Amino acid sequence: MVMDRVIFHCDCNGYYASIECLLNPSLKNVPMAVAGNPENRHGIILAKNEIAKQAGVLTAETINEAKRKCPNLVTVKPHHDLYKEYSTKINQLYLNYSEHVEPFSIDESFIDVSQTWFNFANSPKELADQIREKIKTEIGITISIGVSYNKVFAKLGSDLKKPDATTVIAKHEIKDKVWTLPINRLIYVGKVTEKKLRNLNINTIGDLARLEPSFLEQLLGKQGKTLSIYARGLDDAKVPKFTEVEEAKSIGNGTTFEKDLTTWPEIKKGLKDLSAEVSQRLQTAAKTASVIQVQLKTFDFQVRSRQMTLFNPVEEFIEIYQTALKLMTELWDEKTPIRLLAVTATNLQDTATAYRQISMLEWQNPAQQNSWKEAKNKQEQADKIQQLVNQINQDIGDSSLQLGLKENGKQSQS
Ligand SMILES: [Mg+2]
Repeated sequence: MVMDRVIFHCDCNGYYASIECLLNPSLKNVPMAVAGNPENRHGIILAKNEIAKQAGVLTAETINEAKRKCPNLVTVKPHHDLYKEYSTKINQLYLNYSEHVEPFSIDESFIDVSQTWFNFANSPKELADQIREKIKTEIGITISIGVSYNKVFAKLGSDLKKPDATTVIAKHEIKDKVWTLPINRLIYVGKVTEKKLRNLNINTIGDLARLEPSFLEQLLGKQGKTLSIYARGLDDAKVPKFTEVEEAKSIGNGTTFEKDLTTWPEIKKGLKDLSAEVSQRLQTAAKTASVIQVQLKTFDFQVRSRQMTLFNPVEEFIEIYQTALKLMTELWDEKTPIRLLAVTATNLQDTATAYRQISMLEWQNPAQQNSWKEAKNKQEQADKIQQLVNQINQDIGDSSLQLGLKENGKQSQS
């Protein structure tokens, strides 16, 4: 008999807000929110603490809207570097329990503890509780953990009880714990899909599971097939090793020069060769990058680096080279001799599905979502676009700009 896997999905509760409260404990006892642009009343709420949540403050609304419900709301600006730093620390803690740790977003990770949980506890649930305590005492924030035999239900579980809770969904419990839930609780069921399904009176995950898979595939294409597999509890996606995730994250190339570089022509030549190789490797791997980083080491071993996030992911030599050159003009003082140069492409995505430009028609049609990574990017893109739309609407003083929907090839307005 094959044993069920044991997979955790760990989700930090109100992550940005929790980190801000950690660094400034006086924020703990007041309603507070992290907002994109706190000086501007049109700035958008990115996260809120439990008190603000109780007062009705919502993520993605404007400060104006939030303050109408919660007049004494304190807003702070985001510290993204810090969130990243803590995210790394948290994943390092998870790595004590298994080498199969896969960050899913800045504050969410999957851990496969199938081969290890019994080294730490009497049950998977006990280990999950132990990890929650560990994060609480060593980091100072709370997390929710979903425990199940596949990633989809582990993720679902972490969402069911929060903050600071463990939810177990065993195979024999699917009927009671999963199939009774509304369809939008299932990952990848967005607003468009939800509407389509509800129109057909498919309202719960159980309704989905009981449908003929071929019917769902006809209705929603590839996504329908995936959702059917998920609803029936048949997802078998693996949690890769953390080292594998890290390796896949960037493609970079550096050179230490025999003679220090001191002129622009020399530096341009160096950047050109490095960019060409990075481009080549990206294309071989069928990846595009949305962040380009340049690093240099001076003759006296000082290391400096700078990176740029690009609106459109790139893989072409010329795009990488131009970005690298631009970064270099900001980095180099035009006199310090340079010993080492490196160009690195990060935030990689599969070229086939990479996001090329803001297409308000495309982003809501998740027909091609197959891998978890893509979904994450899609979600981030969707969030970003929603924020942009909110911002533009606020600026022009009405809500005339809405997201266009595309269904069955026809264009309609939502
Ligand atoms: Mg979270």
